[in-house]
Amino acid sequence: QTIGDFFAGVAECQPDREALVSRHQNLRYSYSELHAQARRLASALLRLGLAPGDRVGIWSHNNAEWVLMQLATAQVGLILVNINPAYRVAEVEYALTKVGCKALVTMARFKTSDYVGMLRELAPELALCLPGRLASRRLPELRSVVWIDVAGEGDEQPGMLRFSELMQRGDAQDARIDTIGVGLRNTDPINIQFTSGTTGFPKGATLTHRNILNNGFFIGECMRLTPEDRLCIPVPLYHCFGMVLGNLACFTHGATIVYPNDGFDPLTVLQAVQEERCTGLHGVPTMFIAELDHPRFPEFDLSSLRTGIMAGSPCPIEVMKRVVQQMHLSEITIAYGMTETSPVSCQSSTDTPLAKRVSTVGTVQPHLEVKIIDPESGQIVPRGTSGELCTRGYSVMHGYWGDAEKTREAIDDDGFMHTGDLATMDEDGYVNIVGRIKDMVIRGGENLYPREIEEFLYRHPLVQDVQVVGVPDARLGEELCAWIIPKPGAAPTEDDIRAFCKGQIAHYKVPRYIRFVAEFPMTVTGKIQKFKIRDAMKDELG
Ligand code: ATP
Ligand code: MG
Repeated sequence: QTIGDFFAGVAECQPDREALVSRHQNLRYSYSELHAQARRLASALLRLGLAPGDRVGIWSHNNAEWVLMQLATAQVGLILVNINPAYRVAEVEYALTKVGCKALVTMARFKTSDYVGMLRELAPELALCLPGRLASRRLPELRSVVWIDVAGEGDEQPGMLRFSELMQRGDAQDARIDTIGVGLRNTDPINIQFTSGTTGFPKGATLTHRNILNNGFFIGECMRLTPEDRLCIPVPLYHCFGMVLGNLACFTHGATIVYPNDGFDPLTVLQAVQEERCTGLHGVPTMFIAELDHPRFPEFDLSSLRTGIMAGSPCPIEVMKRVVQQMHLSEITIAYGMTETSPVSCQSSTDTPLAKRVSTVGTVQPHLEVKIIDPESGQIVPRGTSGELCTRGYSVMHGYWGDAEKTREAIDDDGFMHTGDLATMDEDGYVNIVGRIKDMVIRGGENLYPREIEEFLYRHPLVQDVQVVGVPDARLGEELCAWIIPKPGAAPTEDDIRAFCKGQIAHYKVPRYIRFVAEFPMTVTGKIQKFKIRDAMKDELG
């Protein structure tokens, strides 16, 4: 089945159930309304001159238009390209040209970001052209730009089409939608998602219906979703976390998706959960921390909550425990995945014992295989030993768009995706993520795992957050360096930290360099970019 078939089936079974609540837009769609709107948009996109296989970008924060684009493109075989709303001129140019987008849907502006302004900078010819006839030197393939006019307001944008106008051009009964739909296969590419750029330049992973539809379904199964569930997702849709763990997990189970806001804001999340009686809540660890620590947190009634997913980066046990105890998320799980694997490979189910659920990424998803290998020899390591996690099955991406060489480096001849992550698996099949291979530090021949040292330093009473990286050293190859954010008002010294380590961890695990900082370099998804910490240290140490 394709995403279009699947959604049509669910909409037919339960036309009147609420499918989508977009709180900041004050919008509610039932399944039948969402389906009709998506068909209308699909028709309008075809009438714009787009054909199956064409790439269409979406560069926007979370809103109803985003999910309409996801469903509409899937129905007529257009390939949706998720573009991070934090991207600026050079990055959006890279993304659009890398995959040759023919059309782009964007917001006019958002807070201090002027999307239309950035596009005009990239393509000044835009203003001179009629919609559909765009020809720009830097974006040669782009033909149409559509801007999302919130509630029909806003100035005219010469050369660009309003989203509401585009919708008016479409017809939900358009027979071409069905003619094209019949010819689609579930192995067709449907989506290009860029990786987060945590370790370097983002890579465009090409994903098929089969990849993400199945993954969304099995994620929803692990969460035991039913049509009664209402899932609140403050995570961004441009990332697979929102698009697959949120939208597709919900839609494949006939549940309701709730967008609390367009950008992340802990207060609106708490309000949405209470007012919408949400049963599920997703987030990266930093989002859950912000919600728990919000001064007004105790005022909210979160008793409707049951399940959710924490993922994206290492999920500290302490945070998991607080979420279970203080937010009623008794069935929350951690999920592990990567954009290239649709994304989830490992996840607990709701009946996994709590101790395992808060401390591991769970077991391997149904219909997927993982193996843990010695990165040097390629041999499978014994249980309990750490090695590189490799995934095989329906979830492995089609490839990196336009990059056969990188694809070959990532997916081996047996079909295993080499994740670049170090993991262990215990006797019962529970997987633990140890860290990224790129982050492992080799000091005088000894393999050191920053995560272990971070978990230890995190216990210091004056430490709010800590990151450990390796920096080059002439004698030992690498030395450890810790960047520490002190608790508000606290001023720990290097000596305090060293004294804390003394006798508690091996002397070679005590960081040689300790720096106190106010913040870490981060991607917009809240992932810490260790390569930037390493670069800063290299500059400092010369
Ligand atoms: P890039 O590949 O561009 O450097 P990225 O790997 O961060 O960026 P994503 O595909 O968004 O891009 O993230 C996948 C990575 O996130 C995984 O490879 C893993 O390192 C990390 N990750 C995901 N879930 C977890 C988890 N539950 N625990 C620890 N790490 C996780
Ligand atoms: Mg990656």
